[in-house]
Amino acid sequence: MTLEPVAVNPGPNLFDLNQAALRQYFADMEEKPFRAEQVMKWLYHQGVADFDGMTNLSKKLRERLAGEARFETPVIVSEQVSADGVRKWLMQVDDANRIETVYISEPNRGTLCVSSQAGCALNCAFCATGKQGYGRNLSAAEIIGQVWQANKRLGCFEGEAPMARPISNVVLMGMGEPLLNVDNVLRAVELMTDTLGFGLANKRVTLSTAGVVPGIVKLTQRNKISLAVSLHAATDALRDKLVPINRTYPLRALLPACRAYSEASGHPVTFEYVMLNQVNDSAGDARTLAALLKGLPAKVNLIPFNPFPGADFTRSPAPVIDRFRDLLMQSDIITITRKTRGDDIAAACGQLTGQVAPRARRLRIPRKSPTRNLCQTPNGVEQHG
Ligand code: SAH
Repeated sequence: MTLEPVAVNPGPNLFDLNQAALRQYFADMEEKPFRAEQVMKWLYHQGVADFDGMTNLSKKLRERLAGEARFETPVIVSEQVSADGVRKWLMQVDDANRIETVYISEPNRGTLCVSSQAGCALNCAFCATGKQGYGRNLSAAEIIGQVWQANKRLGCFEGEAPMARPISNVVLMGMGEPLLNVDNVLRAVELMTDTLGFGLANKRVTLSTAGVVPGIVKLTQRNKISLAVSLHAATDALRDKLVPINRTYPLRALLPACRAYSEASGHPVTFEYVMLNQVNDSAGDARTLAALLKGLPAKVNLIPFNPFPGADFTRSPAPVIDRFRDLLMQSDIITITRKTRGDDIAAACGQLTGQVAPRARRLRIPRKSPTRNLCQTPNGVEQHG
């Protein structure tokens, strides 16, 4: 697939602006702020991202905008469809970084799993994304742009004939740690939930975090979307090993932040727990977890471990997962085992890798060296070697 030419116009990318910022943009141009409404409807309802097609703006304004602003989203480079109907798109965000976005159709919903960073810096022991290193934060436009591209590809904009169930839910569970990119993520979330944007109900947008406590606090002040926390262990000793950010924000800091979020948002917090064979899946682990969550408005999602090349873990057997679930249910904790979807195309939880240019490697390269070691990867993208 050939890539679309990158716009040369250096003006603002209007996908980066929420409604308030877009109104301000037009006010600064001495245009009526309701132009923001018109542009947002074109963008997020009709799927029109070129000024020429925005026919209720005057020709003069369209020409001026075309010279001063731009629309840019990640570009779909490839699509894979799994045997169970999951779609995974590889999207290019710049010359060195590619991210992955996954669409999962279920009988009563269409869920889009979006990435918030190229790669991830957290290095959780059981996650493929962490193993590939960290590239950079995605901009708000690159986050909302994944939703836009998926809608375009699925034919879900107004007047189109959808080829799949329209996107009713967005989960920030793709590549990256959303709360280490909280400002851009929140701006994109505003565009997901704004009725002039994609108009999703707050509770249909779920942010999953490995437990970045200051980010949860910020979210508590600003938002009412659903929160999922990747717990994976019920003691600090084990969590320190599985989810290293626990060393910075241990359970005694994390759980009160979750309680405060649930009180402010009115929704229970979902705790994700990856089932790792003989690591965190014993009856004793289930009891410790039940005791830890006692009295908290909480649900638990058990995620059977999804393997990837070079992984140090295996998946708990199904009867072990069932026993773990039953023990939690006996303690009145609503527990669901997440169905594994899309694993044949490496689109399941923790299998997303895309392609990133880890920062540490890039920084070691001398700035103007003529012998800079650039190599061509099999997919034709220049990468520092
Ligand atoms: N950084 C965020 C969001 C990304 S991952 C977070 O940690 O929550 C989405 C979920 O998949 C997380 O709960 C993550 O821990 C889990 N996960 C990661 N690797 C996995 C694997 N190999 N198998 C199953 N789940 C995995």
